Amino acid sequence: MILDCAIIGGGPAGLTAGLYTTRGGLANVVMFEKGMPGGQITQSSEIENYPGVTGEISGMDLMMPWPEQCQKFGLKHEMVAVTRVSKEGDIFKIYQEGGITSEAYSVIVCTGSSPRRAGFKGEAELIGKGVSTCATCDGFFYRNKEVAVIGGGDTALEEALYLAKICSKVYLVHRRDTFRSAPNTVERVKKTQNIELILNSTPEEVYGDAMGVVGILVKNKNGEIRDIKVPGVFTFVGNDVNNQTLIQQDGSFLCDMNKHGEVIVDISMRTSLKGLFAAGDMRIAAPKQVVSAAGDGAVAALQAIAYVDELLNH
Ligand code: FAD
Ligand code: NAP
Repeated sequence: MILDCAIIGGGPAGLTAGLYTTRGGLANVVMFEKGMPGGQITQSSEIENYPGVTGEISGMDLMMPWPEQCQKFGLKHEMVAVTRVSKEGDIFKIYQEGGITSEAYSVIVCTGSSPRRAGFKGEAELIGKGVSTCATCDGFFYRNKEVAVIGGGDTALEEALYLAKICSKVYLVHRRDTFRSAPNTVERVKKTQNIELILNSTPEEVYGDAMGVVGILVKNKNGEIRDIKVPGVFTFVGNDVNNQTLIQQDGSFLCDMNKHGEVIVDISMRTSLKGLFAAGDMRIAAPKQVVSAAGDGAVAALQAIAYVDELLNH
């Protein structure tokens, strides 16, 4: 059987695409998710910017009802990693771990992206307990408090500026004394009174107690250690797009990508290849939020429904 739509990834984008495709009339839709559905937000202990959801709620609790809602309208879920998606004629092939291959008329790829780890001691253990990779998500928890930002690229500097509006002080720790970031952003950072630059310095260890992060030790190029007492540490040291399923046997991508490996889409989440849509954190200019990933999933699903209808009925 050829699927009407294959959805790769079961985070907020994939689950919403599943809801809209099935409820919108596509009969055979399978969501391929390598783990439990829910996506990376399930790692977050608290989310307070999903509209309409008030009070303290964890990412896991937020996502819990989503799969059941989709299944009610007929979405099928295969718990398997997709290794590659290719297209022959009008038919997509979805290669999975274990050697199984499925076929589909349309594909919505929603495999997200992963923030890189800086690799200092305590970072992995304190992720979600004071170490964060998302200022929009977690900055508010440190309102009128001091935080540290690690990195010297555009993301680190722009997020430091964002945090400086919420927090009493931002320590910007960068391992060199020049920045990758755009010169005008560097100028804005330098002019911001409550950002202190700590240059030629690398994080040695973030430490905490039962309540979360207490401080971070940074070492400068002379080997001197500085103990910065902050309850929040934001790391922005680059990002890896989970685009492996789009890589073809000859090393090329199935559709057009930008130089950062993000999928180029139009405002309808259409890629450069007909019938292939991308949604959520892996697409260009993604705000990297649950609400926007869900919105993308809905937009992609409506386009997939129209595409399959045109392909099969006209
Ligand atoms: P993801 O959620 O990353 O989902 C992608 C899914 O694809 C995953 O489930 C993965 O297992 C699956 N997958 C990947 N590759 C394959 C494959 N080859 N085969 C099968 N499945 C595959 N956003 C907010 O709006 N508010 C917040 O407060 C907030 N806090 C956050 C806190 C943390 C700690 C983190 C990590 C993120 C936070 N975010 C927050 C961001 C939010 O989680 C993401 O923007 C959102 O989850 C993106 O959704 P997505 O569906 O695009 O991708
Ligand atoms: P990036 O440009 O790769 O910068 C990562 C930063 O983290 C670098 O300063 C790097 O230091 C530092 N770093 C890396 N590993 C580290 C480690 N282990 N310990 C300490 N520091 C570490 O990543 P990004 O800022 O996320 O940007 C990615 C791309 O998106 C860039 O091309 C950027 O221009 C673009 N972007 C653009 C905008 C915009 O145009 N408004 C906004 C955001 C991002 P070094 O400099 O020493 O290598």
